[in-house]
Amino acid sequence: MRQVVVVGTGPAGLTAAIYLARANLNPLVIEGNEPGGQLTLTTEVENFPGFPDGVMGPELMENMRKQAEKFGAEFTRGWVSEVNLSGDVFKLQVDGMAELKTKSLIISTGASAKMLGIPGENDNIGRGVSTCATCDGFFFRGKKIIVVGGGDSAMEEANFLTKFASEVRIVHRRAELRASKIMQDRARSNPKITWSLDCTPVEVNSDGKRVTRLKVKNNETGLEETLETDGIFVAIGHRPNTAFLNGQIDTDDVGYIVVKPGTTETSIPGVFACGDVQDHKFRQAITAAGSGCMAALECERYLESIEVHEGVAY
Ligand code: NAP
Repeated sequence: MRQVVVVGTGPAGLTAAIYLARANLNPLVIEGNEPGGQLTLTTEVENFPGFPDGVMGPELMENMRKQAEKFGAEFTRGWVSEVNLSGDVFKLQVDGMAELKTKSLIISTGASAKMLGIPGENDNIGRGVSTCATCDGFFFRGKKIIVVGGGDSAMEEANFLTKFASEVRIVHRRAELRASKIMQDRARSNPKITWSLDCTPVEVNSDGKRVTRLKVKNNETGLEETLETDGIFVAIGHRPNTAFLNGQIDTDDVGYIVVKPGTTETSIPGVFACGDVQDHKFRQAITAAGSGCMAALECERYLESIEVHEGVAY
């Protein structure tokens, strides 16, 4: 039986692991398909405090992992396919392992970028299709780029990409944007940004090596149009990675875990959530790390409280 299991190894999970390990709770940390989380997909991180010259995302995550290991955190690779959170002891089914039992659980599984699901999109990820402007914008100096989406993320990414690209075209499936007025205004006043509104993406084309075109359906005319481009940034939101919880914890209507305000407590005592899986607002490495620290401290207190209740030392 484990005292605590941490699921997910972005800045939230790794910070929780550092704190739990230093508190001698010997956490088991489960790394999924994307060890290190979204930061491993970025290049330079310039806004993580303590690095005046910036730090590479993968290096930052590797350092956090080493720090957790140094204090005794154990890591294992695996996919949590099922959980049972109904009793005092939580049970986890991790692919390729025997059932895991733990007294407490920290969920830091993050959120993944949503994709359009159109032909040619998947095949061209890394060949012109991207979900991360900060990671890949640099590769599009002087090129033509399309950003798909009508929310704040799309406006932000489009503005950011104008630093590199010769032209950024925003393609959105409706005539009205979802983005806040300030973000819309900023994009509309950027001379490098052009618009294809009321246009639904239908297919990504390439020359076999790189993206060359995005086919869209103009919803007003019903006709298909072909937009020439060197890159397509998909910015249509994120999906929190909570499917494996199978509805056992309260989430909002999008699937983000609901925590008690100002805490990392979920609807189940002993289960804590930190990082992007419970935060669709800030989504920063530093806020994720901060909430990971909170989760570890709250978890420690929880374990102390059940120790008193059980009358045994852990
Ligand atoms: P969002 O607000 O949910 O917007 C997603 C956009 O993508 C919508 O315009 C949506 O179209 C479009 N979309 C969704 N699925 C699509 C599909 N299958 N095909 C084509 N288009 C699709 O997501 P977000 O922009 O990532 O923002 C998420 C949250 O973070 C928001 O609360 C936002 O305010 C916040 N945020 C804030 C900032 C900032 O203030 N600096 C920056 C980024 C994000 P419809 O409009 O037609 O549904």
